[in-house]
Amino acid sequence: MIVKEVRVRIAPSPTGYLHVGTARTALFNWLFARKNGGKFLLRIEDTDKERSKPEFEQDILEGLKWLGLDWDEPIVYQSQRLDLYRCEAQRLIEMGKAYFCFCTPEELEQRRQEMIAKGVAPKYDRKCRRLSISERESLIKEGRPYVLRFAMPLEGDVVFDDIIRGKIRFANRELDDFVIVKSDGFPTYNFACVIDDHEMGITHVIRGEDHISNTPRQLHLYMALGYELPKFAHLPLLLGIDRSKLSKRHGAVSLNEYRRIGILPEAMVNFLALLGWYPRDQREIKTREQIIAEFELSEVKPSGAIFDFEKLLWMNGHYIRQKSIDELAAMLIPPFAEKGWVHNPPTEREWNYLLQVTPLIQERMRTISEAIDLADFFYREPENYDEKAKTRLSREGVSDLLSELSNRLEELTEFSVEKIEATIRQLAADWALKAADIIHPTRAAVTGRTEGPSLFHLMAVLGKERCVGRIRKAVQFIKSGRLNLSQDEEGG
Ligand code: GLU
Repeated sequence: MIVKEVRVRIAPSPTGYLHVGTARTALFNWLFARKNGGKFLLRIEDTDKERSKPEFEQDILEGLKWLGLDWDEPIVYQSQRLDLYRCEAQRLIEMGKAYFCFCTPEELEQRRQEMIAKGVAPKYDRKCRRLSISERESLIKEGRPYVLRFAMPLEGDVVFDDIIRGKIRFANRELDDFVIVKSDGFPTYNFACVIDDHEMGITHVIRGEDHISNTPRQLHLYMALGYELPKFAHLPLLLGIDRSKLSKRHGAVSLNEYRRIGILPEAMVNFLALLGWYPRDQREIKTREQIIAEFELSEVKPSGAIFDFEKLLWMNGHYIRQKSIDELAAMLIPPFAEKGWVHNPPTEREWNYLLQVTPLIQERMRTISEAIDLADFFYREPENYDEKAKTRLSREGVSDLLSELSNRLEELTEFSVEKIEATIRQLAADWALKAADIIHPTRAAVTGRTEGPSLFHLMAVLGKERCVGRIRKAVQFIKSGRLNLSQDEEGG
């Protein structure tokens, strides 16, 4: 038996930035191709002259490359294939399966309103389908603008077997004589899509659920043009956590925004793969290779898939912790350079310091951009103390305690994790305190906050001079009485 090579495609329109939903569709197509040793193709549906923009195409290509969804053949641009569509339109006209329609947009709108008023579902009334040849010829001669419409069979059904949803049936009388070529001579989406999918040898059309209503129209075109039918799979819609359709209200919907905040591509791929597909072993963290091996299109669930941003952050945190220190530190250079914290490329000193900072923030980072906030005190003296830190500093006796600590730390000849810890523990013992009573205000003084990496480690990285300086500054701050001013002072 000769098994046909699997050929799938993603067909974005460059009329907007790459949407996470399109990225998910692209990924599922790519996974299906890779799993089956097939081909994954890219087609740019740029027939909307007004709305297609080069920057959107750029964004789409960058996003797909970033995810590692490589395509196997040169990109197909619909705007370069107008002759092909014209030729197929001509064939349909000759077979009597497409006709000229001269109804103006105003006429159509008026009749639509009339139908709505009568309580019937508005649909093109097929007026021009009834024109005689001579009527048609004279309207063309008059130079009247026209579109081409598909002559839909008036009776019968159209059925297809969706890989994810099973049999889906539409009654032909519910379908209208949709436009296949617009008055500017450009094909509509349904028409160009079918011709290209046939011409590109697409075997499986895998796309979003929002296209289900286009599929019966496209099936009619396949049959009218005498093309072999591909198989169809409609992926579940992406939903926000409130289960309504994913939109800007829920957060970013453009893939590259996730890239900009420092989501790693391996986390994004893993996360997107789980939007509709649920691994049999229920293990959610999977490498690209594991996903390819385990992915089953037929096991995708038809119901809406929830895009949970918190889960993406959690997953990204996992992938960040998988990175080696060198790798992660290298990723921090661009955002840190933007802050003016390091040069790009960094000097040797900056790099060595970054290699010490990185492991201390790696544990808590969920995105690369969160590193800015987490590492802030390694690069800048805290300008103010957060509210909780102020509370820690305002406790009875803290200024004397910190003052004594700063003196003892200053005397250390070796400012190591062990020595710092021993100094703090010794002070606690001498003053009959718990170590925590010193650790908390010291952290507040040195970092301006109450949470963060191990205090002894971060102090060792900061070095003696900065730690002693910051602790003394906090002592002055406490003594100046400014702690009580709380909110009013913020930003000052
Ligand atoms: N240009 C269409 C879209 O982006 C393609 C749909 C399809 O895959 O057929 O939604």
